[in-house]
Amino acid sequence: MHELGIVIQIVRQMENYMDENNLKRIDKLVLTVGSLSEIYPKYLEDVYPIAVEDTRLKNTKLELDITPGIGKCKQCDFVYDLIENDNTCPLCGSSEFTVISGTEFLIKEIHAI
Ligand SMILES: [Zn+2]
Repeated sequence: MHELGIVIQIVRQMENYMDENNLKRIDKLVLTVGSLSEIYPKYLEDVYPIAVEDTRLKNTKLELDITPGIGKCKQCDFVYDLIENDNTCPLCGSSEFTVISGTEFLIKEIHAI
């Protein structure tokens, strides 16, 4: 489980951001987590309170924006949700695809006071 390390890094990044922008408090942090990224949203939520304890993000709410894993079929160019379709093109049945999105992990929004 590498989620704790990732969250700790984000907390450090956010504290730097607070210093640079003279922010007292961050109300809410929104992270985009792609369904195909190697990060499990549930683990993120579990480790978040541990990671922010004793930091200035202690009272910052965490919100996750989960994006779908989208692929494009190499045979017929159809664009589909990889997870819902079990990595198989619903049009032609091919399982060869190019990933278009869903591997991202980033800070989407920072709601500061
Ligand atoms: Zn296809």
